[in-house]
Amino acid sequence: MNNLINILKNNNLLTKEQNELNKLKNNKKLYIIENDVKLYKNSLYKKDNILFFLAKIKYDKSLYLFSKSKIKSDFKEKINEIDSLFFQKVSLSPENAVILKKLFPFTSPISLRDKKTTIGCGDRLGKATPGHIRAAKNYDIYPVLAQQSIRELNFTKRSYSNVTGDVVFLVFQEGFEKGYGADGDHLKTIADIDVALKAGMPMITLDLSEVMNAKAADWEESQILKEFDKIDKNTKDRILTSYAGKTFTIGKNDIKISEYEAKKCAVIYNAALDFAKVVDNHLRKNRGDKYDLEISIDETTTPTLPEHHLYIIKELNYRNVTVNSLAPRFIGEFQKGIDYIGNKNEFEKQYIIHCNIAKANGNYKVSIHSGSDKFTVFPIIGKHTNLRLHLKTAGTSWLESVRCISMCAPNFYRKMHKKAFEYFKEASKFYHITADLSKIKDINKINDKDLPKFLEQNESRQLLHITYGGLLNDPELRTDFFNILSDNEDLYYELIFKHFTKHIEKLGIKKTK
Ligand SMILES: [Zn+2]
Repeated sequence: MNNLINILKNNNLLTKEQNELNKLKNNKKLYIIENDVKLYKNSLYKKDNILFFLAKIKYDKSLYLFSKSKIKSDFKEKINEIDSLFFQKVSLSPENAVILKKLFPFTSPISLRDKKTTIGCGDRLGKATPGHIRAAKNYDIYPVLAQQSIRELNFTKRSYSNVTGDVVFLVFQEGFEKGYGADGDHLKTIADIDVALKAGMPMITLDLSEVMNAKAADWEESQILKEFDKIDKNTKDRILTSYAGKTFTIGKNDIKISEYEAKKCAVIYNAALDFAKVVDNHLRKNRGDKYDLEISIDETTTPTLPEHHLYIIKELNYRNVTVNSLAPRFIGEFQKGIDYIGNKNEFEKQYIIHCNIAKANGNYKVSIHSGSDKFTVFPIIGKHTNLRLHLKTAGTSWLESVRCISMCAPNFYRKMHKKAFEYFKEASKFYHITADLSKIKDINKINDKDLPKFLEQNESRQLLHITYGGLLNDPELRTDFFNILSDNEDLYYELIFKHFTKHIEKLGIKKTK
């Protein structure tokens, strides 16, 4: 603590007003580092004569409040006094994040419905946010910094209040005032949505895969007709007059929906679309107009046909559902953490149709799930959406943390790498990947300096990508893993920054300054 107080005194931080503190920010040196203390300069804020900032002493990162007069604060931690200097060391807990959000509203996630381009930066560790911010802040794009699915919460043993809380403090660390989103990803029930809403998440990705009757896609015609007949008469009549045998001109394409296809769509989707309306009402009741609803139909076994996309959005519009973004499943493979697999030209042809459907039916954002690392199709994705899009990434930030480990702690990386093979079988029950692990070279024959190459090869990337749950919960790995990342925080932020800058540039997004 004495070292920290010396930094404050040596730099006259306690006497500086906000405008003088701001002059210390945004230059090349982001930190004041002395002895074992690292003070994050962009987090220097003065409010009611209290100096706020984040600092790390060894592995202990905390929020600090310092003042020459007595401190009144809602944080529960003890207020200390040394030489008529008052201070409070505040832990980075979810409860304290709620208090910080009230003090500094820019640390709260907001609705990004009126923002044209957004990028989901799922971060399973709660550590990567500064890298994401440093990439996004220079471009015409808004980051969704907190984003996790229930599956990821289970694997990482985190809660939505952990996920949002971690981001709140890291947004404060960076002094990032531009605004950011938070996404309760792939939620399927009102109960789960309520947990995300309670944690202050304005974006909800509603996964319709379980409420829709997906198996009807493979039914015999007679079964479809029988099921369609069970629908109430008014709805049946409306579906038939609206779609059966109709041709819709969308951009340069004609999309024809036959009578049978209209009936089939009703059988597959109507219950799910009714549920989307229930969810939309629920969000409006809880958040007024400040929410972003994403409709996700990407977790299906077959690509979304343009006819089905059109039917879904028209029916959502009929129900007055406020669609901020919609995630179809595209042709080809969008596997986790690796580039697009499939025919690029065929992808482009179909992608144009999906984009034109979106433009003609409310101009919602087209959302790309498993969007990380799809470098060969990013230019196509950027171009045909006119950048009205949401790109969702998750595990790729975790892979950058593993890259960081491979560069600065080779022996520890070797341990992780070997354990990943042990966890692979279990993990592959939850993630669809096609990696042939026999193509991964024997790590015992690889030099330390070549270890980061495992993060370049698809097979080893996928192995490391999906086994995060096992690796993070392994008692032999967990503590050391986080300590190594903490020791090498700047390299980690730099790797995330570079990786996300590459995503943003390939999409064709312009710099703002
Ligand atoms: Zn998805």
